[in-house]
Amino acid sequence: MTLLLGCIADDFTGATDLAALLARSGLPVALRIGIPQEKRDPNETAAFEVIALKCRTSPVDIAVEQARQAFDWLKAAGASRFFWKYCSTFDSTAEGNIGPVADMLITETNTAQTIYCPAFPENGRSVFMGHLFVGEQLLSESPMKDHPLTPMRDSGLMRLLTPQVAGAVGLANRNIVSKGPTALRAKLAQLSSDGIRHVIIDAICDDDLRTIAAASFDMPLLTGGSAIAGQLPQFYTQQGLVGLSEHRQVLPKVTGGSIVLSGSCSAMTRRQVANYAGKVASLRLDPIALAQDGAGAALEWLRQQSPDTPKLIYATAEPDDVRQAQEKLGREKAGQVVEAALSEIARGAFRHGTRRFVVAGGETSGAITQALGVIHLAIGREIAPGVPWTFATIGGETIALALKSGNFGSETFFSEAFDRLETA
Ligand code: ADP
Repeated sequence: MTLLLGCIADDFTGATDLAALLARSGLPVALRIGIPQEKRDPNETAAFEVIALKCRTSPVDIAVEQARQAFDWLKAAGASRFFWKYCSTFDSTAEGNIGPVADMLITETNTAQTIYCPAFPENGRSVFMGHLFVGEQLLSESPMKDHPLTPMRDSGLMRLLTPQVAGAVGLANRNIVSKGPTALRAKLAQLSSDGIRHVIIDAICDDDLRTIAAASFDMPLLTGGSAIAGQLPQFYTQQGLVGLSEHRQVLPKVTGGSIVLSGSCSAMTRRQVANYAGKVASLRLDPIALAQDGAGAALEWLRQQSPDTPKLIYATAEPDDVRQAQEKLGREKAGQVVEAALSEIARGAFRHGTRRFVVAGGETSGAITQALGVIHLAIGREIAPGVPWTFATIGGETIALALKSGNFGSETFFSEAFDRLETA
């Protein structure tokens, strides 16, 4: 299959979000966790290949090296256009890694210029006159100002990017974008002839994103959030880059037991767990008991359930309970104990015949996919914006996985997820 776009994402749930938006096109999308070690099989290359790295806050040299290896793999797999995906809130430290990785990719793709388009209007992220807004607030006044790893205290993208890159940073503002793709292309060409390699682009709505995609879909390197990437497939189709036979992705039908495993304590997950616990057999995990006695009791509970009945196992708790566990065990240990237990339970559930897994929690999803030995996911139907069903093969068996980070989805997400899979 023609590889239309090779994508490198700087974290795991960001990669899933990107994959989901690309999959809206109906074209095949593959997500690979970490730099693929397996030899590339050209017959298995999807139209969109996404490599999920975990390098958002890594030291610059490590992030650049990982991205370079991902680039090499994608290029060898046949990619000639590349996408560098970062967060729609431009999460990065003063050193990087958005700029340094983009600089490296500009050199590797032998191009003169790239664009930076983090805007995701559907999720309230917009860029106006080079400033990033979260809803109606400037980024620097939004809760992102207190992020534990990447506090964003400046909303000016030109100021944020300039120290991270070699050379000048330019802006194509909303006045240009609103004039349409031809005017935008002319602006990019003019900036390029002025020697400007890095161009921030304003976007406040999906129409802006469509204009930007129309003007830039054929550039060798694009960078941004998932929303601009989601606009690209229509232009590849219009340009005849997609063969008709490549249009529909054939996804496996997965039967077998189902389970929801939740390690997220975010507000929306708490509501989702409360909702689903009232409908199916459920078991609550207590981190303090897990730290003392391990996951044996939970595995025993699982063995007593019929593989076919839907079930829920969760460590999800109210903030006070989380605080108590953290005071007793330490913040890191409490998290590790829960992640280790849910990983063991996921492996036990697989042995017990479970083939459909819904996992709540970004870190939890990382731990469980790793424990199950998942390295390659095919992307299926979206359950909620940014949360698709995915499919993987482990031990010769196909499983379906829905990986949901904290606040995604509605209150009935867990039941909706299984309904969606049945009718896929
Ligand atoms: P989210 O996507 O909502 O941020 P994550 O899985 O990324 O969820 O993070 C939640 C973290 O909280 C995980 O490390 C998990 O192991 C930990 N955790 C889950 N339940 C509890 C609990 N009851 N007490 C303390 N920590 C918990």
